[in-house]
Amino acid sequence: MLIIIKKEINENELQPLLNEVKTHDLKYAYLNGEEYDILRLEGNLTKVDEKKISAFDFVLQVIKISPSYQKVSNKDEQSFINVNGIKIGRNESIVVMAGPCSIENYDQLKRIGTQVKHFGAAFLRAGAYKPRTSPYSFQGLKSEGISILKRVKEELKMPVVSEITSILAIDEFKDVDIIQIGARNMQNYKLLKAVAKLNKPILLKRGFASTVEEWLMSAEYIIKEGNNQVILCERGVRSFEPLTRFSLDFSVIPLIKKLSNLPIIVDPSHASGHFELVESLSLAVIAAGADGLIIEVHDKPFEALSDGIQSIKPDRFASLMEKAKKVAHAIGRDMF
Ligand code: PEP
Ligand code: MN
Repeated sequence: MLIIIKKEINENELQPLLNEVKTHDLKYAYLNGEEYDILRLEGNLTKVDEKKISAFDFVLQVIKISPSYQKVSNKDEQSFINVNGIKIGRNESIVVMAGPCSIENYDQLKRIGTQVKHFGAAFLRAGAYKPRTSPYSFQGLKSEGISILKRVKEELKMPVVSEITSILAIDEFKDVDIIQIGARNMQNYKLLKAVAKLNKPILLKRGFASTVEEWLMSAEYIIKEGNNQVILCERGVRSFEPLTRFSLDFSVIPLIKKLSNLPIIVDPSHASGHFELVESLSLAVIAAGADGLIIEVHDKPFEALSDGIQSIKPDRFASLMEKAKKVAHAIGRDMF
């Protein structure tokens, strides 16, 4: 970190800043320049509050050289996450998670699960706890949904992904293989710290109004608690465009790869908000280097209790998977 300091400053005035630096046990060097001075800090800078430093009136600018998401940006960390023998990561096969937005009943989940497994999905996705914009919309089957999910998981021998929305439900997620933190909870730090302790893979969706730095800081919360099994999921951000539900931010795929070793997958269903757009987005993100997809599939979308409009039917899913294989091969990757 470089702290740019006004030239005319004297030692007494500088002392409180040096004291602040000393409390964090950092190495520092004071460099006298012609137009300004520079205080260079080295060491573990995670606890240094740049806003506090900027508040000294003789500080002209604070320049961070390394990011605050130190653990997320550690490229020595392994680049894949192993979920029951399925590896998710940048040098691995592309994985697909598919299933309905919500668990509606046992028959529905079993039918859809059977189909998506048949067409190549590695994981069954299905929500039991649904964060809905309207309090009058279907909120999910909750505990009953989790029991159905567990039953279908065992019958289909298929690992499952499901969203947790509250710490209170944490004990119910023992048999869920990947725990999803939804866009609306990306910055629910209590929840992040609690799920980190479960030592299970966490699918961390990007908040729809969150910057990449905020997203990676949320991942840092989980890794800091000792759980480095974080899978990032881009699901579209809010833009000025009303004709799609959100705007898929493709640029984060190569960007995340530059900044971190964490796997990055994409949700084309919530990003687009319409079933007709899901296939194109899926193929495009594979071409761009995504490590996986999470897709909403429903065999009777018109009866779905949530997100029917963006759910593709199993036959469309089958055709998407065929094309995805071709795109993956074209860039030298396989589909799981
Ligand atoms: C979901 O996966 O059904 C969901 C609610 O996703 P998001 O948090 O991305 O809106
Ligand atoms: Mn949904």
